[in-house]
Amino acid sequence: MSERAVEVEMSVIGERAAGSDITELMTLLGDAMQGREVVAMMGGGNPAAIEAVRDEFSGRLLGMAADPGLAASSFYDYGPPQGIPAFREAFAGFLNDMYDFRIGPKNVAVVPGSQAGMQQLINAYGGSYSDGSFRRIVLPAGPEYVGYKDQPNECGVFWAPSPRIERIGDHEFKYGMSERVVINGLSGAVLMSRPTNPTGNVVADDEIGSLRAQAEKYNVPMIIDNAYGLPFPGVMSEGAMPEWGDDLVLTFSLSKIGLPGVRLGMVVASEDRIALLSSMTAIDSLTSAGIGQQLALPYFRDGSILDICQDHIQPYYAERAERARIAFASELDDNLPYRFHVHEGSYFFWLWLEDMPISSRELFRRLVMRDVIVSPGEYFALDDTRSSEHEGQCVRINFARPDREIERGAAIIAEEVKRAYAGAEYVSGAQSFANSRY
Ligand code: PLP
Repeated sequence: MSERAVEVEMSVIGERAAGSDITELMTLLGDAMQGREVVAMMGGGNPAAIEAVRDEFSGRLLGMAADPGLAASSFYDYGPPQGIPAFREAFAGFLNDMYDFRIGPKNVAVVPGSQAGMQQLINAYGGSYSDGSFRRIVLPAGPEYVGYKDQPNECGVFWAPSPRIERIGDHEFKYGMSERVVINGLSGAVLMSRPTNPTGNVVADDEIGSLRAQAEKYNVPMIIDNAYGLPFPGVMSEGAMPEWGDDLVLTFSLSKIGLPGVRLGMVVASEDRIALLSSMTAIDSLTSAGIGQQLALPYFRDGSILDICQDHIQPYYAERAERARIAFASELDDNLPYRFHVHEGSYFFWLWLEDMPISSRELFRRLVMRDVIVSPGEYFALDDTRSSEHEGQCVRINFARPDREIERGAAIIAEEVKRAYAGAEYVSGAQSFANSRY
């Protein structure tokens, strides 16, 4: 057989998937680690391995395998596309007890990971409509989760006006809603992750209120992705309050409490929106895996998922964030114009290096050469119609790492940032930059 690469013909969607940014970022991070003794892996989004949490879930899993009824609906049978009724009932009851949402199981769709649910939602509301209009998804909260970026089936679906930047003290900042955000009849939906991946921003309740008021006028749904937020894992600042209404679509994930492998997400929305999502799940995947639903069910039924979060997950991330904050504050040169986004939630710090003479991708490469991995900021610019110059001056740093990685990582990042501002040529003992594959 010829060794010549075969040129595969594919659809426009195929071509976009083949060159997608999330794949590129994951490959970049994966490749960066190949053959390296990584000093600090601060690039990825894996939840931390918290032993007590893993022990709890492993115990439940063993019990499921030993119970023939549970084993059948977990592993052996297809469940309904909308999700196992008992699970949806327990999940709706859990939210009602916590927030008085007054929803029922028909307001809950189980999806094979919130990533898949988000793709359904983005395509249900963004793009071409049968009335001839093209409706865009408005991203009002600044740089957003790279995983959304290539999900739309059509081009040009996201509209993300440059956010307002509020500088706080010498080394902090916060994104605010751009004055340019307009929601009208050409908006398909408003979408935000809250807390936001990558920035750690938590859009304030009153800003949500004003966006909702604009969106409601045009019957535009507002989608809030709670992957890191309330009520679980609840890795976010206090004071925000989840709300519910027919104009809202709320998404939840089991991944960030430590179960990304079970691929379980939940969407809460009006009954007609949920019926649409269930149809989409049937088309894409038939149904979601039973294992995650059965695993999580008792923790929602008795509310003990909150104890797991409060006793183990929230303290763990709070402690790591504080440790990393101290390490970066002591390593970074106070005279440089660096700013961290105020950390209001998520597992990340977002570092803005204003007017840095090199791109964040270049900084990424230099850090890889020193065995430190971060995520270049430009991936988190989702709107192709505006410049990503600002995001190209930012990097996302996963701070939930062991002490040694935080300390070494912070020291090396600080050195490379200083060199970048000084315009110094990169010099490395063993390898020169020019012949590195990065
Ligand atoms: N939403 C946000 C903001 C995320 O960061 C992630 C994963 O990193 C997801 C959704 C996808 O999560 P899931 O594992 O539930 O598909």
